[in-house]
Amino acid sequence: MPVITNRPYGTKDVLPAEVNKWQTVERCAAETAECFGFKEIRFPTFENTMLFKRSVGDTTDVVQKEMYTVTAKSRDNGKDPEDFTLRPEGTAGAARAAIENGLLNEALPQKVYYIISCFRHEKPQAGRLREFHQFGAEMYGSPDASADAEVIALAKSLLDRLGLTNVELFINSIGCPKCRAGYHKALKEYFEKRRDELCPTCLDRLERNPMRILDCKSPICQGIAKDAPVILDYLCDECSAHFEKLKRSLADMGISFSIDPKIVRGLDYYTKTVFEFITKDIGAQGTVCGGGRYDGLVEELGGAPLPALGFAMGIERILMTMENAGSEFVPAKKCDLYIASMGEAAQRKAAVLTNQLRAEGYFVESDVMGRGLKPQMKYANKIGATFTIVLGDNELETGRAKLKNMASGEQTDISIGESFIDEFSNNLIVEMFEDKLNTIE
Ligand code: ATP
Ligand code: MG
Repeated sequence: MPVITNRPYGTKDVLPAEVNKWQTVERCAAETAECFGFKEIRFPTFENTMLFKRSVGDTTDVVQKEMYTVTAKSRDNGKDPEDFTLRPEGTAGAARAAIENGLLNEALPQKVYYIISCFRHEKPQAGRLREFHQFGAEMYGSPDASADAEVIALAKSLLDRLGLTNVELFINSIGCPKCRAGYHKALKEYFEKRRDELCPTCLDRLERNPMRILDCKSPICQGIAKDAPVILDYLCDECSAHFEKLKRSLADMGISFSIDPKIVRGLDYYTKTVFEFITKDIGAQGTVCGGGRYDGLVEELGGAPLPALGFAMGIERILMTMENAGSEFVPAKKCDLYIASMGEAAQRKAAVLTNQLRAEGYFVESDVMGRGLKPQMKYANKIGATFTIVLGDNELETGRAKLKNMASGEQTDISIGESFIDEFSNNLIVEMFEDKLNTIE
């Protein structure tokens, strides 16, 4: 039957059969972040549009072309309408929340992580969606390159734990406003000579922010950018020393990397360190993680001057890479017991026992369809229940039933009275133990 409307272009549904893949990544991300001292932060899906204009930057693709913005009635009648935007990324919202709630006045560094949906009006293709998901981490307060190394180590550790070994780390430094002035001048001179060949957007970038041209997706502009001056030749002493320390710290931790002077990142707020983790395994959209330092952002958003840095990982791209690599996903929880029943009294008893076991944390099912015994057992098989019990008049009368191990066919007599939960859990422990032994053998 046709549905009245399909999902919006560039969005995805995650069905129950594959949600364990998402949970594998999300849980591993949360656990890894917590080992590194990062705590979860949650913030709204939409923010005032000006937050993204100010942080991500007016000259970026994200702000110029990709934002989903709505104009909504003002809270106070008569005032100008308010402009909201669905978050295209997490750094701005996390920083806004940290400043607004006084988090940055507490002991530094403050370290937060988030798992969020983001929205960008882009051309959908493999690894590029209009609603996508990010695992992000941000650290506020440290100017030191050891913080950059720690943040990169967190991303690397998560990739390792997910089994993604074929992902390469590229780092660069894009300097501070001080060193960038000289660099902008050199870039302008270079691109000015070839202005006739640049795309219209890059012509505008040439005036407002020439570094953005390096990030243009047009093959012609990319070709021209190939021989452009590189920022590393223009770093001031401080930025240069910072970059050297980062390289040493990464080497100390055994994290291998390459330097790519062409990485400038698509968002305006970055300073000094920028980095990307890239895989060749999933086609053109191979950047699974991008991040860097943004020492001016907190102040730009109204907070006290405070250095900060972070990264975001695209969860869809991580999943694609994992599938490609044949990585293991944590399997969905298995049904421990199906309690089948014959007749209304038995169905009611089954519901009570089911409820009791569920309250103890077991995964138990019983009939809610009013079906006969045969289709109930078929269903129990289909959902892969470890054990089954069949309740009928006889079982209700004697207070005992047969617990059947569905894999071995073995049957055990158990009480369905007072000691039901204890007897069932003993049987389940034995089964889990044997199952484990079998997998070891
Ligand atoms: P790209 O160059 O691929 O457009 P970006 O520089 O715009 O990436 P960031 O803003 O740094 O990306 O976002 C961090 C990560 O989020 C990216 O490395 C990528 O894994 C993921 N990501 C960004 N945009 C999308 C999208 N439209 N669909 C799916 N994942 C995305
Ligand atoms: Mg992009």
